[in-house]
Amino acid sequence: MKMFRLESEGKCGGCNWAVSFVYVLAETEQQAKELYEKGEAGLCGDCMCDMLSEASYEVVSSYPTPNSKEDKRDLYSHTRMVY
Ligand SMILES: [Zn+2]
Repeated sequence: MKMFRLESEGKCGGCNWAVSFVYVLAETEQQAKELYEKGEAGLCGDCMCDMLSEASYEVVSSYPTPNSKEDKRDLYSHTRMVY
């Protein structure tokens, strides 16, 4: 999954604050928009960070070869953050 930032005129799905942007985890930007429009995703920065730090997510750089998982892990294993 990737993190997408979408413009919002609504509220955070976590804390209910009115926010200008929400963050959505999805495979594609189109999927992120659909999830947000259906009301199934969309958190403010604070709530998204809370969720990521409380759940077992890893942050992995996709630079420079986003299509090659093995290269990515070899070159950038030091950038991986494991919670
Ligand atoms: Zn929030």
